[in-house]
Amino acid sequence: MPIRSCPVCGSPDADELHRLRLILFDDHPLAHNYVTAVCRKCGMGFNRETLPAEAYNRYYTKLSKYVVNTSASAPIPRLPECAEILAHLLPRDTAILDVGCGSGGFLESLRKRGFTNLAGLDPTPECIRIIREDLGLDARVGTIAEHPFPPRSFDLALSTVVFEHLLNPGLDVDKMADLLKPEGMAFILVPDASRFAEFMVSPFQDLNVEHINHFSSDSLNKLFENRGWEHLDAGSATFTLTPTWQSTLIWGLYRKRDQSQRLSAADHTLREGLSDYIVKSEAMLARMAANLRTELAGDTDVMLWGAGHLTSVLLAHDVLTDKRIKAVIDSNPNYAGKTLAGAPVGGHELRSDFQGPIVVATVREQDAVISQIKQLGWSNRLVRLYHH
Ligand SMILES: [Zn+2]
Repeated sequence: MPIRSCPVCGSPDADELHRLRLILFDDHPLAHNYVTAVCRKCGMGFNRETLPAEAYNRYYTKLSKYVVNTSASAPIPRLPECAEILAHLLPRDTAILDVGCGSGGFLESLRKRGFTNLAGLDPTPECIRIIREDLGLDARVGTIAEHPFPPRSFDLALSTVVFEHLLNPGLDVDKMADLLKPEGMAFILVPDASRFAEFMVSPFQDLNVEHINHFSSDSLNKLFENRGWEHLDAGSATFTLTPTWQSTLIWGLYRKRDQSQRLSAADHTLREGLSDYIVKSEAMLARMAANLRTELAGDTDVMLWGAGHLTSVLLAHDVLTDKRIKAVIDSNPNYAGKTLAGAPVGGHELRSDFQGPIVVATVREQDAVISQIKQLGWSNRLVRLYHH
Protein backbone atom coordinates (compact mmCIF):
# COMPACT_ATOMS: atom_id res chain seq x y z
CA MET A 1 0.00 0.00 0.00
CA PRO A 2 1.43 3.45 -0.86
CA ILE A 3 2.12 5.78 2.04
CA ARG A 4 0.44 9.15 2.38
CA SER A 5 2.44 12.35 1.91
CA CYS A 6 2.10 15.31 4.26
CA PRO A 7 -1.38 16.83 3.75
CA VAL A 8 -0.01 20.35 4.41
CA CYS A 9 3.28 20.59 2.47
CA GLY A 10 3.24 17.44 0.32
CA SER A 11 6.58 16.14 1.59
CA PRO A 12 6.89 12.32 1.63
CA ASP A 13 9.38 12.46 4.54
CA ALA A 14 7.71 11.78 7.86
CA ASP A 15 8.58 10.14 11.17
CA GLU A 16 6.23 7.43 12.33
CA LEU A 17 5.36 7.91 16.00
CA HIS A 18 3.02 4.98 16.50
CA ARG A 19 1.13 2.14 14.83
CA LEU A 20 -2.33 1.29 16.10
CA ARG A 21 -4.00 -1.88 14.91
CA LEU A 22 -7.79 -1.82 14.60
CA ILE A 23 -10.28 -4.62 14.11
CA LEU A 24 -13.02 -3.14 11.92
CA PHE A 25 -16.14 -4.63 10.32
CA ASP A 26 -15.38 -7.41 7.83
CA ASP A 27 -16.36 -5.26 4.82
CA HIS A 28 -15.05 -1.96 6.23
CA PRO A 29 -13.65 0.20 3.40
CA LEU A 30 -10.93 1.88 5.48
CA ALA A 31 -7.48 0.72 6.60
CA HIS A 32 -7.07 -1.55 9.62
CA ASN A 33 -3.93 0.30 10.74
CA TYR A 34 -3.60 3.83 12.01
CA VAL A 35 -0.06 5.12 11.53
CA THR A 36 0.50 8.38 13.41
CA ALA A 37 3.24 10.35 11.66
CA VAL A 38 4.79 13.80 11.83
CA CYS A 39 6.10 15.59 8.72
CA ARG A 40 9.88 16.19 8.90
CA LYS A 41 9.61 19.32 6.79
CA CYS A 42 6.68 21.24 8.31
CA GLY A 43 5.74 19.37 11.51
CA MET A 44 2.14 18.47 10.53
CA GLY A 45 0.65 15.37 12.19
CA PHE A 46 -1.36 12.84 10.18
CA ASN A 47 -2.34 9.24 9.57
CA ARG A 48 0.24 8.00 7.08
CA GLU A 49 -1.75 4.95 6.04
CA THR A 50 -3.54 5.93 2.85
CA LEU A 51 -6.45 4.71 0.78
CA PRO A 52 -8.06 5.94 -2.43
CA ALA A 53 -10.62 8.74 -2.10
CA GLU A 54 -13.23 6.27 -3.30
CA ALA A 55 -12.85 4.23 -0.07
CA TYR A 56 -13.52 7.34 2.02
CA ASN A 57 -16.56 8.23 -0.09
CA ARG A 58 -17.92 4.73 0.46
CA TYR A 59 -17.28 5.01 4.20
CA TYR A 60 -18.93 8.42 4.62
CA THR A 61 -22.04 7.47 2.64
CA LYS A 62 -22.52 4.06 4.31
CA LEU A 63 -20.99 3.89 7.76
CA SER A 64 -20.28 7.27 9.23
CA LYS A 65 -22.10 8.38 12.38
CA TYR A 66 -22.83 11.68 10.63
CA VAL A 67 -25.33 9.98 8.37
CA VAL A 68 -27.37 9.01 11.41
CA ASN A 69 -27.14 12.17 13.50
CA THR A 70 -28.98 14.44 11.13
CA SER A 71 -31.36 16.10 13.55
CA ALA A 72 -31.04 19.86 13.21
CA SER A 73 -32.13 20.24 16.82
CA ALA A 74 -29.27 18.14 18.25
CA PRO A 75 -27.48 20.48 20.66
CA ILE A 76 -23.84 20.94 19.73
CA PRO A 77 -22.44 23.39 22.30
CA ARG A 78 -19.57 24.66 20.16
CA LEU A 79 -21.85 26.11 17.47
CA PRO A 80 -23.25 29.21 19.20
CA GLU A 81 -19.80 30.07 20.52
CA CYS A 82 -18.26 29.81 17.05
CA ALA A 83 -21.04 31.91 15.56
CA GLU A 84 -20.19 34.53 18.17
CA ILE A 85 -16.58 34.59 16.93
CA LEU A 86 -17.73 35.28 13.36
CA ALA A 87 -20.23 37.90 14.56
CA HIS A 88 -17.29 39.88 15.94
CA LEU A 89 -15.32 39.63 12.70
CA LEU A 90 -17.77 40.11 9.83
CA PRO A 91 -20.61 42.36 8.62
CA ARG A 92 -24.05 40.70 8.75
CA ASP A 93 -24.59 40.75 4.97
CA THR A 94 -21.41 38.73 4.26
CA ALA A 95 -22.23 36.02 1.70
CA ILE A 96 -21.28 32.84 3.61
CA LEU A 97 -21.06 29.23 2.43
CA ASP A 98 -20.82 26.51 5.09
CA VAL A 99 -18.83 23.69 3.47
CA GLY A 100 -19.77 20.37 5.08
CA CYS A 101 -22.74 22.00 6.78
CA GLY A 102 -24.31 18.76 8.05
CA SER A 103 -27.93 19.37 8.95
CA GLY A 104 -27.41 23.11 9.32
CA GLY A 105 -26.75 23.61 13.03
CA PHE A 106 -24.05 26.21 12.42
CA LEU A 107 -26.04 28.03 9.73
CA GLU A 108 -28.91 28.30 12.19
CA SER A 109 -26.55 29.72 14.84
CA LEU A 110 -25.29 32.30 12.34
CA ARG A 111 -28.80 33.28 11.40
CA LYS A 112 -29.62 33.82 15.08
CA ARG A 113 -26.65 36.22 15.21
CA GLY A 114 -28.21 38.26 12.41
CA PHE A 115 -26.40 36.95 9.32
CA THR A 116 -28.68 37.22 6.30
CA ASN A 117 -26.80 35.76 3.34
CA LEU A 118 -26.25 32.06 4.13
CA ALA A 119 -25.84 28.89 2.08
CA GLY A 120 -24.81 25.30 2.82
CA LEU A 121 -23.07 22.48 0.98
CA ASP A 122 -23.01 18.85 2.15
CA PRO A 123 -22.74 15.45 0.43
CA THR A 124 -25.65 13.96 2.42
CA PRO A 125 -29.02 14.55 0.68
CA GLU A 126 -30.93 14.00 3.95
CA CYS A 127 -29.01 16.88 5.58
CA ILE A 128 -29.74 19.19 2.66
CA ARG A 129 -33.43 18.31 2.75
CA ILE A 130 -33.56 19.21 6.47
CA ILE A 131 -31.91 22.60 5.87
CA ARG A 132 -34.15 23.51 2.96
CA GLU A 133 -37.39 22.37 4.55
CA ASP A 134 -36.87 23.09 8.24
CA LEU A 135 -34.60 26.14 8.07
CA GLY A 136 -35.65 27.51 4.68
CA LEU A 137 -32.05 28.23 3.70
CA ASP A 138 -30.27 27.71 0.40
CA ALA A 139 -28.41 24.40 0.57
CA ARG A 140 -27.09 22.07 -2.14
CA VAL A 141 -25.86 18.49 -2.30
CA GLY A 142 -22.18 18.27 -3.16
CA THR A 143 -18.61 18.53 -2.00
CA ILE A 144 -16.07 21.29 -2.33
CA ALA A 145 -14.68 19.39 -5.35
CA GLU A 146 -18.05 18.91 -7.04
CA HIS A 147 -20.88 21.38 -6.44
CA PRO A 148 -23.46 23.44 -8.34
CA PHE A 149 -22.42 26.95 -7.15
CA PRO A 150 -20.96 29.34 -9.75
CA PRO A 151 -17.37 30.50 -9.22
CA ARG A 152 -16.76 33.67 -7.16
CA SER A 153 -20.16 33.45 -5.39
CA PHE A 154 -19.17 34.03 -1.77
CA ASP A 155 -17.33 36.43 0.53
CA LEU A 156 -16.53 33.71 3.04
CA ALA A 157 -16.28 29.92 2.91
CA LEU A 158 -16.31 28.31 6.31
CA SER A 159 -15.71 24.80 7.45
CA THR A 160 -16.09 23.56 11.03
CA VAL A 161 -14.63 20.23 12.17
CA VAL A 162 -14.26 19.03 8.58
CA PHE A 163 -10.59 19.56 7.67
CA GLU A 164 -9.37 16.85 10.06
CA HIS A 165 -11.29 14.38 7.86
CA LEU A 166 -9.99 15.39 4.42
CA LEU A 167 -7.66 13.15 2.44
CA ASN A 168 -6.12 16.06 0.55
CA PRO A 169 -6.98 19.31 2.34
CA GLY A 170 -4.66 21.40 0.12
CA LEU A 171 -6.77 20.52 -2.90
CA ASP A 172 -9.87 21.56 -0.98
CA VAL A 173 -8.32 24.92 -0.09
CA ASP A 174 -7.70 25.55 -3.80
CA LYS A 175 -11.29 24.59 -4.65
CA MET A 176 -12.52 26.89 -1.90
CA ALA A 177 -10.58 29.76 -3.47
CA ASP A 178 -12.47 29.25 -6.75
CA LEU A 179 -15.79 29.79 -4.96
CA LEU A 180 -14.72 33.09 -3.41
CA LYS A 181 -14.94 36.62 -4.75
CA PRO A 182 -11.64 38.50 -5.07
CA GLU A 183 -10.32 39.17 -1.53
CA GLY A 184 -12.70 36.46 -0.23
CA MET A 185 -11.96 34.74 3.04
CA ALA A 186 -11.97 31.27 4.62
CA PHE A 187 -12.76 30.42 8.25
CA ILE A 188 -11.59 26.99 9.37
CA LEU A 189 -12.21 25.32 12.73
CA VAL A 190 -10.47 22.06 13.70
CA PRO A 191 -9.55 20.17 16.89
CA ASP A 192 -6.23 21.26 18.44
CA ALA A 193 -4.16 18.09 18.12
CA SER A 194 -1.27 19.58 20.07
CA ARG A 195 -3.53 19.43 23.17
CA PHE A 196 -5.20 16.00 22.77
CA ALA A 197 -3.34 14.72 25.85
CA GLU A 198 -4.98 17.32 28.10
CA PHE A 199 -8.49 16.09 27.41
CA MET A 200 -8.19 12.32 27.36
CA VAL A 201 -11.36 10.40 28.00
CA SER A 202 -10.73 7.14 26.17
CA PRO A 203 -7.44 5.70 24.85
CA PHE A 204 -6.60 6.65 21.25
CA GLN A 205 -10.02 8.24 20.76
CA ASP A 206 -8.54 10.88 18.45
CA LEU A 207 -6.55 8.40 16.36
CA ASN A 208 -9.58 6.98 14.57
CA VAL A 209 -10.34 6.18 10.94
CA GLU A 210 -12.16 9.50 10.45
CA HIS A 211 -9.60 11.90 11.92
CA ILE A 212 -6.66 11.59 9.55
CA ASN A 213 -5.20 15.12 9.89
CA HIS A 214 -3.86 16.51 13.17
CA PHE A 215 -3.49 20.29 13.09
CA SER A 216 -1.93 22.77 15.46
CA SER A 217 -2.65 26.46 14.97
CA ASP A 218 0.67 26.77 13.18
CA SER A 219 0.10 23.86 10.79
CA LEU A 220 -3.37 25.18 9.91
CA ASN A 221 -1.73 28.51 9.02
CA LYS A 222 0.87 26.71 6.92
CA LEU A 223 -1.85 24.92 4.96
CA PHE A 224 -3.16 28.30 3.77
CA GLU A 225 0.06 30.33 3.65
CA ASN A 226 1.76 27.66 1.50
CA ARG A 227 -0.97 28.33 -1.06
CA GLY A 228 -0.58 32.10 -1.06
CA TRP A 229 -3.32 33.03 1.43
CA GLU A 230 -2.89 35.76 4.00
CA HIS A 231 -3.42 34.86 7.64
CA LEU A 232 -5.78 37.44 9.20
CA ASP A 233 -6.77 36.15 12.61
CA ALA A 234 -6.74 33.05 14.82
CA GLY A 235 -7.91 31.81 18.16
CA SER A 236 -8.75 28.81 20.27
CA ALA A 237 -11.51 27.84 22.64
CA THR A 238 -12.10 24.93 24.99
CA PHE A 239 -15.60 23.53 24.77
CA THR A 240 -17.36 21.37 27.33
CA LEU A 241 -19.22 18.78 25.29
CA THR A 242 -20.41 16.69 28.23
CA PRO A 243 -19.49 16.99 31.93
CA THR A 244 -16.60 14.52 31.41
CA TRP A 245 -15.64 15.47 27.88
CA GLN A 246 -13.87 18.66 26.87
CA SER A 247 -12.12 19.52 23.66
CA THR A 248 -10.02 22.43 22.45
CA LEU A 249 -10.70 23.71 18.96
CA ILE A 250 -8.59 26.17 17.01
CA TRP A 251 -9.73 28.47 14.24
CA GLY A 252 -8.05 30.56 11.58
CA LEU A 253 -9.32 33.28 9.26
CA TYR A 254 -7.53 33.64 5.90
CA ARG A 255 -7.80 35.95 2.91
CA LYS A 256 -7.32 34.77 -0.64
CA ARG A 257 -4.24 36.49 -2.09
CA ASP A 258 -1.54 35.63 -4.51
CA GLN A 259 1.36 36.12 -2.17
CA SER A 260 4.71 34.55 -2.82
CA GLN A 261 5.21 31.43 -0.72
CA ARG A 262 6.66 31.91 2.69
CA LEU A 263 8.85 29.22 4.14
CA SER A 264 8.36 29.14 7.87
CA ALA A 265 10.12 26.86 10.32
CA ALA A 266 8.72 23.44 11.19
CA ASP A 267 6.21 23.27 14.03
CA HIS A 268 7.34 21.01 16.89
CA THR A 269 4.23 21.31 19.05
CA LEU A 270 2.47 18.48 17.25
CA ARG A 271 5.34 16.02 17.64
CA GLU A 272 5.42 16.70 21.39
CA GLY A 273 1.65 16.82 21.83
CA LEU A 274 0.95 13.66 19.83
CA SER A 275 3.81 11.74 21.52
CA ASP A 276 2.46 12.69 24.92
CA TYR A 277 -1.04 11.66 23.86
CA ILE A 278 0.19 8.27 22.63
CA VAL A 279 2.05 7.56 25.90
CA LYS A 280 -1.04 8.47 27.95
CA SER A 281 -3.30 6.42 25.68
CA GLU A 282 -1.04 3.35 26.03
CA ALA A 283 -1.13 3.71 29.82
CA MET A 284 -4.91 4.08 29.90
CA LEU A 285 -5.37 1.11 27.57
CA ALA A 286 -3.01 -1.00 29.73
CA ARG A 287 -5.12 -0.21 32.83
CA MET A 288 -8.28 -1.21 30.97
CA ALA A 289 -6.67 -4.43 29.74
CA ALA A 290 -5.48 -5.37 33.25
CA ASN A 291 -8.96 -4.75 34.58
CA LEU A 292 -10.54 -6.86 31.82
CA ARG A 293 -8.09 -9.69 32.45
CA THR A 294 -9.12 -9.83 36.10
CA GLU A 295 -12.84 -9.42 35.50
CA LEU A 296 -13.00 -11.98 32.68
CA ALA A 297 -10.51 -14.50 34.14
CA GLY A 298 -13.01 -17.37 34.33
CA ASP A 299 -15.02 -16.57 31.20
CA THR A 300 -14.73 -17.83 27.65
CA ASP A 301 -17.84 -16.25 26.13
CA VAL A 302 -18.39 -12.51 26.32
CA MET A 303 -20.54 -9.90 24.66
CA LEU A 304 -19.56 -6.32 23.95
CA TRP A 305 -21.84 -3.30 24.09
CA GLY A 306 -20.66 -0.68 21.60
CA ALA A 307 -19.14 -1.16 18.14
CA GLY A 308 -17.20 2.10 18.08
CA HIS A 309 -13.54 3.00 17.90
CA LEU A 310 -12.69 1.75 21.40
CA THR A 311 -14.08 -1.68 20.52
CA SER A 312 -11.87 -1.74 17.40
CA VAL A 313 -8.87 -0.96 19.63
CA LEU A 314 -9.77 -3.57 22.28
CA LEU A 315 -10.46 -6.33 19.76
CA ALA A 316 -6.98 -5.84 18.29
CA HIS A 317 -5.44 -6.04 21.80
CA ASP A 318 -4.34 -9.45 23.08
CA VAL A 319 -6.59 -9.17 26.15
CA LEU A 320 -9.61 -10.45 24.18
CA THR A 321 -7.87 -12.91 21.85
CA ASP A 322 -8.72 -15.98 23.98
CA LYS A 323 -12.38 -14.96 24.36
CA ARG A 324 -15.26 -15.96 22.14
CA ILE A 325 -17.14 -12.76 21.23
CA LYS A 326 -20.78 -13.85 21.04
CA ALA A 327 -22.17 -10.56 19.76
CA VAL A 328 -21.53 -6.83 19.64
CA ILE A 329 -24.59 -4.77 20.53
CA ASP A 330 -24.89 -1.29 19.06
CA SER A 331 -27.94 0.83 18.30
CA ASN A 332 -26.46 2.41 15.14
CA PRO A 333 -28.64 1.07 12.30
CA ASN A 334 -25.72 1.44 9.87
CA TYR A 335 -23.91 -1.33 11.77
CA ALA A 336 -26.79 -3.84 11.93
CA GLY A 337 -26.03 -7.14 10.22
CA LYS A 338 -22.27 -6.56 10.08
CA THR A 339 -19.61 -8.90 11.45
CA LEU A 340 -16.89 -7.76 13.83
CA ALA A 341 -14.14 -10.20 14.89
CA GLY A 342 -16.41 -13.04 13.79
CA ALA A 343 -19.32 -11.82 15.93
CA PRO A 344 -22.67 -10.46 14.70
CA VAL A 345 -23.38 -6.76 15.28
CA GLY A 346 -26.88 -5.56 15.97
CA GLY A 347 -29.55 -4.64 18.51
CA HIS A 348 -30.81 -6.05 21.82
CA GLU A 349 -32.18 -9.21 20.21
CA LEU A 350 -28.63 -10.55 19.83
CA ARG A 351 -28.46 -11.16 23.58
CA SER A 352 -31.07 -13.91 23.21
CA ASP A 353 -30.50 -16.25 26.22
CA PHE A 354 -26.86 -15.26 26.81
CA GLN A 355 -26.16 -15.08 30.56
CA GLY A 356 -22.42 -14.32 30.49
CA PRO A 357 -20.61 -11.03 31.04
CA ILE A 358 -21.19 -7.93 28.90
CA VAL A 359 -18.24 -5.56 28.46
CA VAL A 360 -19.42 -1.95 28.32
CA ALA A 361 -17.03 -0.91 25.55
CA THR A 362 -17.35 2.85 25.83
CA VAL A 363 -16.01 5.38 28.29
CA ARG A 364 -17.91 8.46 27.27
CA GLU A 365 -21.29 6.69 27.30
CA GLN A 366 -20.53 4.18 30.06
CA ASP A 367 -23.06 5.41 32.63
CA ALA A 368 -25.81 5.85 30.04
CA VAL A 369 -25.25 2.33 28.69
CA ILE A 370 -25.28 0.77 32.16
CA SER A 371 -28.57 2.40 33.07
CA GLN A 372 -30.01 1.35 29.70
CA ILE A 373 -29.04 -2.29 30.32
CA LYS A 374 -30.56 -2.13 33.82
CA GLN A 375 -33.78 -0.76 32.38
CA LEU A 376 -33.90 -3.72 30.02
CA GLY A 377 -33.92 -5.95 33.10
CA TRP A 378 -30.89 -7.98 31.98
CA SER A 379 -29.13 -9.87 34.75
CA ASN A 380 -25.76 -10.20 32.98
CA ARG A 381 -22.65 -9.14 34.85
CA LEU A 382 -21.54 -5.77 33.46
CA VAL A 383 -17.81 -5.23 33.05
CA ARG A 384 -16.69 -1.59 33.10
CA LEU A 385 -13.54 -0.35 31.44
CA TYR A 386 -13.40 2.68 33.63
CA HIS A 387 -14.11 3.51 37.26
CA HIS A 388 -14.88 7.04 38.37
ZN1 LIG B 1 4.64 18.80 5.84
